[in-house]
Amino acid sequence: MKKYDVVILGSGPAGLEVSNMLSQANKRICLIEKDSEAFGGVCVNKGCMPTKHLAKAADVLESSKKAHEFGIEVPSVKPRMDQIHNMKENLINMLGGMHQKHTQSEIIFGHGRFVSNSEVEITKKDGSTERITANEFVIATGSRPRSLPSLEIDGEYICTSDELLNNNIIPNNMLVVGGGVIGLEFASIYKSYGSEVTIVEATPRIMPNEDVDTSMMVQELLQKRGITIMPSTSIDKAEIEEGKVRCSFNGTEETSKTYDKVLVGVGRQPNTDDLGLENTDVRLENGFIQVDDYLQTDVKHIYAAGDVIETLMLAHTAVYESMVITTNMINPRSMSYTNKVAPRVVYTQPEIAAVGLTESEAREIHGQIKVINFPMKMNGKTIIEHMTEGRIKLIYKSDDKVLVGASIIGKSATEIIHELTLAVTHGLTIDDIKNTVHAHPTVAEGIWFTAIKGVPFDSTQEFMLSMRQKEKQL
Ligand code: FAD
Repeated sequence: MKKYDVVILGSGPAGLEVSNMLSQANKRICLIEKDSEAFGGVCVNKGCMPTKHLAKAADVLESSKKAHEFGIEVPSVKPRMDQIHNMKENLINMLGGMHQKHTQSEIIFGHGRFVSNSEVEITKKDGSTERITANEFVIATGSRPRSLPSLEIDGEYICTSDELLNNNIIPNNMLVVGGGVIGLEFASIYKSYGSEVTIVEATPRIMPNEDVDTSMMVQELLQKRGITIMPSTSIDKAEIEEGKVRCSFNGTEETSKTYDKVLVGVGRQPNTDDLGLENTDVRLENGFIQVDDYLQTDVKHIYAAGDVIETLMLAHTAVYESMVITTNMINPRSMSYTNKVAPRVVYTQPEIAAVGLTESEAREIHGQIKVINFPMKMNGKTIIEHMTEGRIKLIYKSDDKVLVGASIIGKSATEIIHELTLAVTHGLTIDDIKNTVHAHPTVAEGIWFTAIKGVPFDSTQEFMLSMRQKEKQL
């Protein structure tokens, strides 16, 4: 039986980064990937990269539609889905190929399953099996879309993000089930492509984990773009009827309607059910692998990272977790993952980004806090870009002025959030931001102006009340 220093299961961001970082430490590594057609995991093949390509195409469309506002004549603007999709495929192939070429680990394509705490059996495409062992293991097998019992995925009319990424027909009307990140991104993209889009969300608001005012403002901005949003509504039943999906709803006056396509975007579940973990002492809870602060499972030589553990299901958290694991492999228990701050980004139009605590979390944890809300329309660059929608919000502790959370809605939100991520991660204060010169005119300068010119309130609610009073006086 072959023996390695480290065996990694899964070639997504988590597995790949462990492989890349450890190869610099001269370790003998084996990387097992189940899907020989999809090296690079969900991020490269069915997640971050292909969706951002579709979002970029939507962005170009929206900019072209606005070209006349800048004195530029564009005779006609329409998406060519076949071309958009070919380019998406090229991007996936290029990235997957690039990752595979640069991986210095030995790659074995096949489905890995633990047969004990120290052995993995790989079942290859041709049905043959091979057993290998290692000093240490990393489980990085990622996640797959969750489904709902009332919505059977047929891949054509009712689909998850996996199938929708391969769709090259623009539906006349589309229902998005779930107002979370994936649902909102596809809703925004298909609205730009020309579909009528409805979002149905079971909880009282979209993006239920973010601040209430973020949800409300995003809802208003999406509605302004013509997207219908049905909060506090759940889908009861969906039936295919003459080439359309008839959906029945609970909790709204609209009890039944037909759609060309339905996207089920209700979250993701970890790929931990077919890993042979029952043959190990690795512990699962609700399908997620349980790890300690050093990302070790109950079996200390088996680590886990990425979507299989209960941290944010994002590529960049997966990468950071890989760094924690490789550091701990080289220098045992030297780097902990406790309370790591990670930005949360949504590529809608306009973009949304947040970091650290929400306002209610900050109040619960720190008691006295201050909140500054500053409109994007006060920023020179967004005025030039004709993209003045949104706001920047900073949340800091009243006593020592340490920034504990922030959120941005608007142009370049997913880029400029990193300054605030740095600030929240390293305990910088609102004065540190004030004392940092920002270039003009930039969207990032909006953060500076928020700190310098924004009026601190005890809560966003108080800020809104004051705004309403001011409006009345005018
Ligand atoms: P994955 O990327 O899921 O990779 C796991 C790999 O393991 C897969 O290749 C799988 O085939 C393989 N595997 C599974 N089981 C086995 C087995 N038993 N043996 C061997 N191999 C196995 N995140 C962001 O940060 N930014 C975004 O913009 C973003 N957009 C997204 C858009 C969509 C539509 C989706 C679905 C996700 C998006 N994400 C985004 C989330 C991001 O893709 C994931 O968080 C990330 O890919 C998780 O990385 P991972 O390494 O844990 O697993």
